[in-house]
Amino acid sequence: PLEPDIDLSIVARGTPGFSGADLENLVNEAALYAARQNKDKVSLSDLEFAKDKVLMGTERRSMVISDEEKRNTAYHEGGHALVAKLIPGSDPIHKVTIIPRGRALGLTQQLPVDEKHAYPSSYLVNNITILLGGRAAEELVLEDFTTGAGNDIERATEIARKMVCNWGMSKEMGPLTFGKTEEQVFLGREIATHKNYSEETAERIDKEISRIVTENYDRAKKLLSDNIDTLHRLSQRLLEKEVLNAEEIDEIMGIQPPAEEPQ
Ligand code: ZN
Repeated sequence: PLEPDIDLSIVARGTPGFSGADLENLVNEAALYAARQNKDKVSLSDLEFAKDKVLMGTERRSMVISDEEKRNTAYHEGGHALVAKLIPGSDPIHKVTIIPRGRALGLTQQLPVDEKHAYPSSYLVNNITILLGGRAAEELVLEDFTTGAGNDIERATEIARKMVCNWGMSKEMGPLTFGKTEEQVFLGREIATHKNYSEETAERIDKEISRIVTENYDRAKKLLSDNIDTLHRLSQRLLEKEVLNAEEIDEIMGIQPPAEEPQ
């Protein structure tokens, strides 16, 4: 049984792309977690716990992390969160945490307002900027880099590559696809990408990908340096509390909650 005040639309927004089996797993985990606390009903916080576990792996609170590493992570995640907040139209921030999970030292979680099936290029570009916000914050504040941004950079580069090579979103390269991917449908995964363009084109593709990534890195850095005080406040609070939710982030940024509808 569920607590009566559970809003399942929040759970739904946090689980885009989940299959029926994934959702079943999530509900199972939530029930187990509730039972472990001797509760007879499942609450939203149990579902939230289960969702984080399914999506990101188990919390590793016992992992020993130095103060310096923690501070680096707080600024890295603070960078993602602040860039996402500063770009209009990006997916709302749901939670920022510096509690290690699985292989990640921290995490910034955005929840799309609705399930998207086609992404406008502006949305993709914004996502590249948000992905690079972590590294940009490191460069601005720590004046050094950590390897924590490796996965972000890989993902940002991959989006830029697809914009240029698959989705015809680069003005420079035009509405063409580059590289033919042979898919073995019955296995459902990419097997090999064949190069069907000249060396000269390959060079232009590389340049264009590099331009998109670099421009958006600079954009992230500018957003953060223009709001450096907010970045400090956000990261300090993250260090103190380890987890910040959407309302807490708004409060730190001085954003008023929307006025309640009059009854
Ligand atoms: Zn990151």
